[in-house]
Amino acid sequence: MPPLLCHICKMSVLKIFKFPDPILKKVCSKVTKFDLKLEGFVNDLTETLQSYKFCVGIAAPQAGSLQRVIIVDVSRARKPQPNNGLLILINPVILESSNFKIVREGCLSIPDFTANVKRAMEITIAYQNIKGETKTLSTKDFEAHAIQHEADHLDGILFLDKITSPAADLFRRVKY
Ligand SMILES: [Zn+2]
Repeated sequence: MPPLLCHICKMSVLKIFKFPDPILKKVCSKVTKFDLKLEGFVNDLTETLQSYKFCVGIAAPQAGSLQRVIIVDVSRARKPQPNNGLLILINPVILESSNFKIVREGCLSIPDFTANVKRAMEITIAYQNIKGETKTLSTKDFEAHAIQHEADHLDGILFLDKITSPAADLFRRVKY
């Protein structure tokens, strides 16, 4: 689907697919072509993330594209923690994870709920940047948490798949 152009800010905002759309359960393919088409998609995906207040992450399948691309920017959080700003992570792989905690998270594709999920508070990942160069990044706390959530999307995993007890761990989101 072509991006919708916002009349106010002229951004290309992509449609967000929501649970239970089957596209969210698919495993995404590795990106192999680092071309202008990829760059255009990454720009649109970034602008889509930035069109949602306090949104800190988005994954390509949420916008209907089954490729291994995630974008994380926890500087946009309501209460920002130390972070690396806008991260465009292509073909991300979590190499190491430690210091697991139960944390609360939400998802653009599941707008009415949040959930308690077990996540590593320290991770090291390998990924490729927009030029296809391989990089590694070690990060912690909320940024690490957000990267894990978005990376799960690339394997068709939602936070709903990670909770053991909906009664105890699933919460209706308070509208504000
Ligand atoms: Zn999500």
